[in-house]
Amino acid sequence: MPPIFQTSTYVQQAPNVHKGYDYARVGNPTRTALEKLIAGLEGADECACFASGCAAMDAVLKMFRPSDRIIASNDLYGGTYRLFTEVFAPFNIDFVFVDMTDIDQVKQAYNEQTKLLWIETPTNPLLRVVDIQALTDFARHNDILSLVDNTFASPYLQQPLELGADMVLHSTTKYLGGHSDVIGGAVATSDEEIMEKLRFQVKTTGAVPGPMDCYLTLRGIKTLSVRMKQSVENAKAIADFLDNHPAVGQVNYPGLESHQQHEVARKQMKDFGAMVSFSLKDDSQEKAKEFTSRTKIFALAESLGGVESLISHPASMTHGSMPKKVREKAGLQDSLIRLSIGIEDQEDLIDDLDQAFE
Ligand code: PLP
Repeated sequence: MPPIFQTSTYVQQAPNVHKGYDYARVGNPTRTALEKLIAGLEGADECACFASGCAAMDAVLKMFRPSDRIIASNDLYGGTYRLFTEVFAPFNIDFVFVDMTDIDQVKQAYNEQTKLLWIETPTNPLLRVVDIQALTDFARHNDILSLVDNTFASPYLQQPLELGADMVLHSTTKYLGGHSDVIGGAVATSDEEIMEKLRFQVKTTGAVPGPMDCYLTLRGIKTLSVRMKQSVENAKAIADFLDNHPAVGQVNYPGLESHQQHEVARKQMKDFGAMVSFSLKDDSQEKAKEFTSRTKIFALAESLGGVESLISHPASMTHGSMPKKVREKAGLQDSLIRLSIGIEDQEDLIDDLDQAFE
């Protein structure tokens, strides 16, 4: 097992003569082990790990300059939206939000200043699926970069670099860590210039994960495939159950044949993931909130991707920082409920939802 190098510094043989590590903000062997593992999973040459998914996003965004345009999905993690609009937009980075399932909207948003396509797929929380290959082809054709936030799928289900993306980003807090016991982030790429800029950010701004956190994430990743298999199997059964339930309105799950981008998901994902969102037929925010506090196995909590199933109300929780108008424009109703399906017994999970409906 990779040891936990719980140190802030390293003894040198002579000034600046050392074994590859001089100071732990810059590098740590436990972190290196994690970076190599994630790079391998994503088919990347290299990976840089960060203290959180948001810190990873922050480091990427610092590669851009005032008046640069970034085109992003209008349905994405609320914290990403907050980072874009409240931290980087005031520095004059120009963000345009479009429905990326419609490539024409991306083409219309493109101008000479555009530098990056920021893709999240499946999207959070509406589980739309964006055609990665189509968008990375467009990016390459126009000589701009593309990034895929692969948090919802994990590298077990989807490998964006193979589909032409320049960078793949993770909140390792989720499926990679897998046990809701650690916060972390990562960016993997095979582009040397990008990696040099990211390493510069790591060294200079220092939002790095501690060695214990790297160890926990390394340990979590060992069971990624078995966790994903079980979670996806449960998610499929739960999506079917919801789809046939008289109290349920819309069910968002890429594995349902009725899902608008089911074919795209089939093409670019190994399986359909373990996130499901749905609305109640009684389309009220109150009923949705009440439902989320009635489950007993699904714990009411933010986050996703752990072995335990979670339930949440995106409009007031993960996406609370998005103004209501922006949420509505993206199609995120106040009555939406989001499930992160874990590895528990499938019947127990369905029974739990059933008793909450009752
Ligand atoms: N990207 C996605 C898709 C997320 O869902 C999240 C967090 O929920 C993040 C990024 C941010 O990651 P972190 O919470 O590790 O900062």
